[in-house]
Amino acid sequence: MGNGMAVIIDGTKISQDVRGEIRGEALRLKDDRGVVPGLAVILVGDDPASHIYVARKEKACAEVGFLSREYKLPGDTGEAQILDIVGQLNADDTIHGILVQLPLPRHINPDSVINAIDPKKDVDGFHPLNVGRLLTGNPFHTSCTPSGILELLDRYEIDIQGREAVIVGRSNIVGKPLALMLLARHATVTVCHTRTRNLPEVTRRADILVAAAGSSEMITGDMVKDGAVVIDVGISRLPAGKLVGDVAFDQVSEKASYITPVPGGVGPMTIAMLLKNTLHAAKNFT
Ligand code: NAD
Repeated sequence: MGNGMAVIIDGTKISQDVRGEIRGEALRLKDDRGVVPGLAVILVGDDPASHIYVARKEKACAEVGFLSREYKLPGDTGEAQILDIVGQLNADDTIHGILVQLPLPRHINPDSVINAIDPKKDVDGFHPLNVGRLLTGNPFHTSCTPSGILELLDRYEIDIQGREAVIVGRSNIVGKPLALMLLARHATVTVCHTRTRNLPEVTRRADILVAAAGSSEMITGDMVKDGAVVIDVGISRLPAGKLVGDVAFDQVSEKASYITPVPGGVGPMTIAMLLKNTLHAAKNFT
């Protein structure tokens, strides 16, 4: 490869396929057992981006026949009140997934809230029990963005086993869980971050390169090996308003064998995986 012909991984199409399958499975679950998957979303404050994300999640639930319930709380809501709602949702048999939209206002400790969620309903996969179970194998739920990346690799029949995977970014929601998932699939995994020395030298080793740094177009053509699979998680808006990823798409697509675009790559998969986790909870934990 490396002949300027990278296959563009179509996350929009794959996410539609996945949501179609989930809709079918949800219908069967209702017919067979009378169970309708239910997702509760807690949103505190008036962060505009969070409101957009929550609206998308609700719409996605409706499209696959799930029940969704939203709690839109004012920014000055106390932690005790949020913990109280989480406690009620943990005990509610019609709710299989609980999602607390992050970031929370500063006076609320996100760890306290996440720790209060029943791990079997923690469809974001952020509870320490789910993180620990991912580390040792066999989690109830795994973080949605990394799961979406694996789904894309699998649907494009891209080999993982034995290959060099390099991840740029070590956050708890993307880089670290992705490293564990790729390790479980027998990749040789390297995780890079802001203090990595000679980043281009490391990224050039990658057969599978995942950029999750949140730094616009930082992965340039010279940082990518010919024929690499390049997955771009980053989303940034340039001053002129254009949405870009962490990968300089034009340069890198001339060297890569496969590449995800921004938008339309990893992004659409995240919500699809949230639905998948909610379905999983409804099927297995009711
Ligand atoms: P974060 O800020 O929590 O973590 C960024 C990580 O990248 C850190 O570990 C940091 O050390 C590393 N990093 C930053 N700049 C770097 C550089 N120049 N060189 C090497 N390492 C560097 O971010 P996050 O929450 O993991 O998100 C990363 C990006 O992915 C953001 O753009 C975010 O908007 C996007 N994102 C997209 C989705 C999606 O659904 N598509 C989901 C989550 C996050």
